[in-house]
Amino acid sequence: MYIYADNAATTKMSRAAIEKMTPYLAECYGNPSALYSLGQRAKDALEESRETVARLIGAEPREIVFTSGGSESDNQAIRSAAEAGAKKGKRHIVSDAIEHHAVLHTLKRLEREGFEVTLVPVTPEGIVEPDVVRAAIREDTCLVTVMTANNEIGTIQPVKEIGKICRARGVLFHTDAVQAVGHIPLSVGELGVDLLSASAHKFHGPKGVGFLYAKRGTPLANLIEGGAQERGRRAGTENVAGIVAMAAALEEAVAGIERNAKRLIPLRDRLIAGLSKIPHGALNGDPVRRLPSNVNFCFEGIEGESLLLLLDDRGIAASSGSACTSGSLDPSHVLLAIGRPHGVAHGSLRLSLGEDATEEQIDYMIEATSDVVSYLRGFSPVWHDLADRKAEFVL
Ligand SMILES: *Cc1c(COP(=O)(O)O)cnc(C)c1O
Repeated sequence: MYIYADNAATTKMSRAAIEKMTPYLAECYGNPSALYSLGQRAKDALEESRETVARLIGAEPREIVFTSGGSESDNQAIRSAAEAGAKKGKRHIVSDAIEHHAVLHTLKRLEREGFEVTLVPVTPEGIVEPDVVRAAIREDTCLVTVMTANNEIGTIQPVKEIGKICRARGVLFHTDAVQAVGHIPLSVGELGVDLLSASAHKFHGPKGVGFLYAKRGTPLANLIEGGAQERGRRAGTENVAGIVAMAAALEEAVAGIERNAKRLIPLRDRLIAGLSKIPHGALNGDPVRRLPSNVNFCFEGIEGESLLLLLDDRGIAASSGSACTSGSLDPSHVLLAIGRPHGVAHGSLRLSLGEDATEEQIDYMIEATSDVVSYLRGFSPVWHDLADRKAEFVL
């Protein structure tokens, strides 16, 4: 059995998206800025894709800027709001402790450039509370950025309520919706956001392409100088084939949201129930307000890395959290922010299901994880100290 359970890191491209994009690589390869018909056909495909993407998130086509993915969209959104704020003497930004590094590292850089950043804490379930955001907003706040859904622990944030607060206070609001777009119902009008980031490879489109929604009238700064593509907001010859594929993938993903949630939520909860039987382990994130595909656990007395390698031997592709932290020895900032101690945060496992997951696969994952956790604990000095009561169990 081979189970790909790392869909929060990236997804397999959909057949429809591959088929839609191929002609734009092979035959219709013209530059959309060219005047001859080969270029104009590419331009038409680009604009049609813009209309599709806009319609699927409740936006207008002119509010969509195509980018190279989620990281670029996050960078551009935050930098744009910061630059606009600085012009009015507003140099304070509100965000939270469990954002993706594309947001957190952009904020770090802005701090070095003289901005002040408040990262509000989250609840032990990983929820950003609207009242806490409200209390953090100041007279000089130019931006609030809170993700729609967390990539590690799957928590779905009260973005709509936070959007209301931002509107009332006249503060720009950005949401990193990379994990949400194509997975949960979403419309920019309803969310009340000014800026929203998305990435194609998280919803069965290709890697290296995404989009930024910027509500009409929202100031946008360029990250990349050059030609006048994307109405002067993002230079560089457009990734036409990728963009066409993204639109096709999003169309399919949005059409399947309800059906997939109905199928996945019971499977997710079966997996959670099964893994909960492993002693001295705990679910990370909120049991209800979470993505239909996300399961994340901590197990005491083991190293997440060893767990992943042994699961791989059994044909399960999983992750310890975010792709950015795997390979480094630092535990996940998200798990630390929800209050997991260092030692416990090291023993984490994220299983993010694909829409085609089956009950048989779920049961196999439960069995394999239970086996591997017991096996690893068998020769873990940390576990033996805990078992011999030389150290205290946390979970
Ligand atoms: C994957 C991810 C990103 C980065 O997107 P890329 O397209 O890989 O650059 C940003 N934010 C979140 C929440 C993500 O899950």
